[in-house]
Amino acid sequence: MKYIDKQQNIADGEGYTRDYIADSYDVASHSFIPSLQSEEAFNRFRNQQYVSHSPHADADFKSLLLREQEGRCCYCMRRISVDAKDSNIEHLIPKKSPVGDLPYYAKYSDLLNYHVSHSETFEGKRYANKKAVAQQVKLPHMVAYENLVASCMDSHHCNSARGNAKMPPLPIIPDIESKYFYSPSGMIVTEDVDSEYDKAIKTLELNYETLRNIRLLWKKAASSAYEVAQIVFLTETADKQVFLCTIFGKQSITDLHPKWQNFAPAGENASTYYWDLFVKYDWFYDYYRHHDKDGNRI
Ligand SMILES: [Zn+2]
Repeated sequence: MKYIDKQQNIADGEGYTRDYIADSYDVASHSFIPSLQSEEAFNRFRNQQYVSHSPHADADFKSLLLREQEGRCCYCMRRISVDAKDSNIEHLIPKKSPVGDLPYYAKYSDLLNYHVSHSETFEGKRYANKKAVAQQVKLPHMVAYENLVASCMDSHHCNSARGNAKMPPLPIIPDIESKYFYSPSGMIVTEDVDSEYDKAIKTLELNYETLRNIRLLWKKAASSAYEVAQIVFLTETADKQVFLCTIFGKQSITDLHPKWQNFAPAGENASTYYWDLFVKYDWFYDYYRHHDKDGNRI
């Protein structure tokens, strides 16, 4: 996992949010249309169905998130694209979080504490005009830039596994990288057993079997003579099999457990699903090159 420093893009990021809330405020009825607590509000924000007054560096909001996350899922570090099939926008304070849970999130992050309010609280106030709405310091959690990160669309882990579960806003906690480490067998581990950090691993299903296997392969790759650029550009099945045999120290692909053979199956119509997924996690090559078995930087 990697800390995401959202202070860097805060003016630009909040620009999207401020434009949206000002646009959706109806001065005559002193209400937001649609309600800031509705799914429709988030969809309109995400699809940029509002009048924008701010110049933005990125074509759309998700592109901004992906740029600040170096194109990776905020939880599992998979490479993701802006395509809706590949990534979505995750709420650190979940969309359906009760108002009373806000202090739980605020205690982990100054960013949330100082810049984000619950949409219900935000909507409960009266504002003189659209400009007054846009100038609020704390922004409603449904569309607040500070509360939004990009995550992968995998149906087994990350955002889809989490749903609206209460857990620490991991990617924006400044010392998050000291909370977790990855073991040589590919497990994500925290030393704070039974803590909220420990529970979050389970909530996000970050030790899902395929993820563990992929991280173990990267651990072995990082200990081999292969460079990461060589690995991600392997296209021929035979070359992928040589790679797998090399990192496991075996003569033939058939000497490997079937779960490893699946990463480079032979045959004309053989699936490249596992290999393609494996290369999207190339972040772990560098991680394992620079950390020992206990997660200490070397
Ligand atoms: Zn993910």
